[in-house]
Amino acid sequence: MSFLEELKNEENFKTQLGSICSVCRLLAGLTPDEAKLLATRIADPEVPKAAIARVLNKNGYKIAPNTITRHARKECLGA
Ligand SMILES: [Zn+2]
Repeated sequence: MSFLEELKNEENFKTQLGSICSVCRLLAGLTPDEAKLLATRIADPEVPKAAIARVLNKNGYKIAPNTITRHARKECLGA
């Protein structure tokens, strides 16, 4: 498919939306208490996403601040 066709193909621009992100997967694997608190932090606009990413990475969860931002904007299925 040519670049032009790729750009015209709406399917190409749907895959990002409505998919499960790594934050969704992480939340699903945590205990209910952990998941609830993490979701609260993510939803809080006062909490920098980089700070959340730092805590996650420190605990072995490799998640980028961008991914958390995207999840917070509900650009994924599980938000
Ligand atoms: Zn998500």
